[in-house]
Amino acid sequence: MRSNSDHGEHQEQPDGSHTASLGFDTRAIHHGFDPAAFKRAVQPPVFLTSTYGFESVEANDAAAALGGRLYAREYNPTTEILEQRLANLEGAEAGVVLSTGMAAFGTLILSLLSQGDELVVHKTLYSNTVAMVEQGLPRFGIKVVPVDLADPSKLDAAITERTQLVYFETPVNPLSSILDIAAIAKRAHTHGVKVAVDSTFASPALQRPIEHGADIVLHSLTKYISGHGDTLGGALLGDAETLYRLHETGLRYITGATLAPHSAFLILRGLKTLSLRMERHGTSALAIARILEAHPAVSWVSYPFLETHPDHAIARKQMAQGSGMLAFGLHAGFDGARTMLDRLKLLTRAVSLGDTDSLIYHPASITRARQSVRKDAHMISGVGDDLIRLSVGLEDVNDLIGDLRQALRGL
Ligand SMILES: *Cc1c(COP(=O)(O)O)cnc(C)c1O
Repeated sequence: MRSNSDHGEHQEQPDGSHTASLGFDTRAIHHGFDPAAFKRAVQPPVFLTSTYGFESVEANDAAAALGGRLYAREYNPTTEILEQRLANLEGAEAGVVLSTGMAAFGTLILSLLSQGDELVVHKTLYSNTVAMVEQGLPRFGIKVVPVDLADPSKLDAAITERTQLVYFETPVNPLSSILDIAAIAKRAHTHGVKVAVDSTFASPALQRPIEHGADIVLHSLTKYISGHGDTLGGALLGDAETLYRLHETGLRYITGATLAPHSAFLILRGLKTLSLRMERHGTSALAIARILEAHPAVSWVSYPFLETHPDHAIARKQMAQGSGMLAFGLHAGFDGARTMLDRLKLLTRAVSLGDTDSLIYHPASITRARQSVRKDAHMISGVGDDLIRLSVGLEDVNDLIGDLRQALRGL
């Protein structure tokens, strides 16, 4: 974990406003990397080492005082570039990257909350975050309070003196509904409670929650930020003091969920084209959403940048455009979804999202299959049996539309 202010070139203004002099794309390519420090390599080298040797005991002491730059669980030069760059792009003071998005969530919660503390979450979350808050955290005496944050005033009754954090996603996985970051942050802050936002569905190219009042941003780097479906990763971005704690306790000895340096390299490579990719994901997804909305087999479509989306105004307020994520249902419901998915020839039946390849999945089918091995598997609040989640990739949009049309024929 290194803070932006360590890096002279693109310093944040002392008042905390994010007026870095260079544009987003330039920073996505250059921020935090000085070729002069790496033998003039144009791309960041991958450092494969588990430990660091020192010329003297004094130098060893100095590295320890610098926030544990002794050992590769806590420090790696390739990883550090990624942390600085992501923090800069989100407008955060500091960042820490972890092995997966779930590792980021675990590190966040286990670092900041203790037995007896309370966590307020939105009622709909990514399925494994739901598993963590329903099955994991209660075992450690952390009380989880699910709230419908579409109405931020509900926080007034949900927050107690034991509440440490309000946590939600926007856009919400898998519904593609939108929560109002500024309104939720304002309410939580009147009670003195911090707000963490999982911004995985948007990426910093489209949405920067800290600019709207959030304190901490979580990303699954596995998705849009790496963007190529070839690595896992997670990130936490926020103020330097909190991030110091997440690094010094959370990463160092609570979870130890270090990102592999080669993964850091892959994610840095993907990040360079983030906004180009997001532009295409969003344009194609909007075109597909419009076609689905007009199709007789389709009963509903949720894409935040459709004018008919109930959260369209909030989406426009806090996002530059839509991402590639949308959800829809068919009149033919659960069975129709299975038939349609089986007919697809180009779109890939797969979980995950934010990949170059279009990925489509039917949560209810996966949940039913899981129930045969796990009795407690259940549908997430607000997710219907008919819901199909589509992550629109970077293929030619007409090919995607053609595949969807042939799969929907006669349904
Ligand atoms: C995938 C995902 C995660 C978990 O990330 P992993 O990298 O798969 O561990 C968390 N939140 C959201 C919204 C996700 O889509």
